[in-house]
Amino acid sequence: MIEYSSFRVEDLGPLAHIIPAPEPELRVVMNRVPVVQGAGAIIPVCEPTLQGNEEKYVVECVRSNWISSAGKFIPRFEEMFAAFCGTKHAVACTSGTSALQLALVTLGIGPGDEVIIPTFTMIASANTVRHCGATPVFVDAEPVTWNIDPTKIEAAITPRTKAIVPVHTYGHPADMDAITAIARRHDLVVVEDAAEAHGAQYKGRPTGSLARAGCFSFYANKIVTTGEGGMITTDDAELADKARNIRDHAFSKERHFWHRAPGHNFRMTNLQAAIGVAQMERVDWLVARRIENAMAYNARLRDLPGITLPPATDGVKNVYWMYSILVDEAAFGRGRDDIRRHLADNAIETRSFFVPMHLQPLYVRPEYLGRFPVAEMLCARGFYLPSSASLTEQQIDFVCARIRELRR
Ligand SMILES: *Cc1c(COP(=O)(O)O)cnc(C)c1O
Repeated sequence: MIEYSSFRVEDLGPLAHIIPAPEPELRVVMNRVPVVQGAGAIIPVCEPTLQGNEEKYVVECVRSNWISSAGKFIPRFEEMFAAFCGTKHAVACTSGTSALQLALVTLGIGPGDEVIIPTFTMIASANTVRHCGATPVFVDAEPVTWNIDPTKIEAAITPRTKAIVPVHTYGHPADMDAITAIARRHDLVVVEDAAEAHGAQYKGRPTGSLARAGCFSFYANKIVTTGEGGMITTDDAELADKARNIRDHAFSKERHFWHRAPGHNFRMTNLQAAIGVAQMERVDWLVARRIENAMAYNARLRDLPGITLPPATDGVKNVYWMYSILVDEAAFGRGRDDIRRHLADNAIETRSFFVPMHLQPLYVRPEYLGRFPVAEMLCARGFYLPSSASLTEQQIDFVCARIRELRR
């Protein structure tokens, strides 16, 4: 049987207090919350909008019997997505996690190798490296954009380092010029984790086109969704070809049931791709809605002391996957967990920031504690507000009023 770590929050000692409190229960307040769609009488932290051709195309798959991993929607979705990112190729797969795994495995990352990732990220960043047999090496965030701090990468490089996988956290691109320069100097490959950054830009260039490969997620809360799904984008024809083959058990071309490399089954279905095509027909709207939400929140929260708004830096298009803020308890008068509980009492769903990889029971080591202070600060102070494309101005008013009334 698999073993679970028995490490407890209390074992973090003086750092235990930065781990977010258990999720506050949502209290449904009838006739008070401006509800728009689907989820009932709450404002969900995120819900998909499937109001284009999603239903029509899925019905088409069912009626024509093309529900598995062949069918016309898969190449169509890949072509649309490659065009959207400005890359020559796109390879669809089962999830953002499998996209990362597929990219790393196809690039030859394996046992004995080290891969540099931000410690402030979602668990898939670390686990995909581990599942390749390689070792994830953590680097702290930088305080302005919350992305991997390029000035701390070189200290983490060893003779075993093979790759850097920066994450475009919450929709704000990482500093790719600095990361690319380091990678060139040390002969490392860079793979973007763009799971949260569909449509974002760095110096006028789209995320997904900024490195050897880009990896996207189409989970239900992502900016573009297929329910579950993922995509690798790349200009490298050999990488795309090999990823397509590894995605499908590495079947050889010469004869059937003949395998020369360890493949996976990471194939996307035509049903998922059908939803993806419908989403891509409206992708400009889906991205624009995230940005409009952020501007509406900014206007209502800007003057609040102790609240740090999401990063917006020069030369970058942040797509605000989730509208993320930091709370300074001393300046605001209430802490992050207090605000989240008050919002939950008003049927408003929120999410605390990631718990950094170096504090996870799975990866923690005594010498890590306190070594990544920016990620720890983000974990202690950060959370995100409802961010669906379907969110209304009235709902944003309601959320912001509930935050403002808490201030002491
Ligand atoms: C969502 C996400 C993933 C994983 O995507 P799935 O489709 O859920 O597997 C990976 N990395 C980051 C940064 C994510 O936000």
